[in-house]
Amino acid sequence: MNPPPIASLQNTANTAPDAVSRCFALVPCAGSGSRAGTAQPKQYEPIAGKSMVMHTLAALGSVERLSQVVVVVSPDDSHAWPQAPEWPANFQRVACGGATRAESVFNGLTQLLEEGRRNPKGVQAHDWILVHDAARCLITAVEINRLIDECLHDDVGGLLAIPLPDTLKAAVNGRVSQTLPRQDKWLAQTPQMFRAGQLHAALKAKAADHFEGITDEASAMEMAGFSPKLVVGSPHNFKVTYPPDFALAEDLLRSRK
Ligand code: C5P
Repeated sequence: MNPPPIASLQNTANTAPDAVSRCFALVPCAGSGSRAGTAQPKQYEPIAGKSMVMHTLAALGSVERLSQVVVVVSPDDSHAWPQAPEWPANFQRVACGGATRAESVFNGLTQLLEEGRRNPKGVQAHDWILVHDAARCLITAVEINRLIDECLHDDVGGLLAIPLPDTLKAAVNGRVSQTLPRQDKWLAQTPQMFRAGQLHAALKAKAADHFEGITDEASAMEMAGFSPKLVVGSPHNFKVTYPPDFALAEDLLRSRK
């Protein structure tokens, strides 16, 4: 049972039965990737023949139900992006990345909703936004379509995630302090799919606090009183984060060819 959403968010999504909701993808791609130990931001590192982010975009671009794929890059991004046909007409870049992932998503969504107010073809409050990390380059069309199928008629939306497979330990100074129950624990992934207006309002409510505690879109929605749906993802959809992750991603991507 979902808790009632906070009053200020209730009217931000036009969910009238006659409102046709489309799906858009928003890809935060403005991080520096400091944990990866790479000279350039990790999402631009070459993996299996092309930059990591282009694998991510290829998967999103293969999902026909996504009207547009919008990549949020840093304002000083100097990456050499490809032209058409590798860069299809429904791909767009916006250079409004922020200091944190949450800020990059908020800035990108703000810009899209502003464009949507001027142009009805753009993102409207009732449309769905699928936020997906540029650094999750192993996502597949099958998983994206599963998320859309499971959330398209849901009141809230949801996220890909996997039930925690391992025993969970709490630590103090590098030693186990407690073994925690894992039965109800899931590892959150992306894409995370919510109504554009509701997600924007949920993030806006935390903007003055510099998005403190917002580690993904679902956490913003939870703080706003919603209970996002968990949709089973794949362990292959990990976020490339540490140096050994690159070789694993390369092997998995090459095994798909
Ligand atoms: O740093 P982390 O791996 O958690 O970042 C997840 C995703 O968020 C990456 O695709 C990264 O480029 C993006 N990001 C962003 N803006 C930031 C930090 C991260 O768009 N300031």
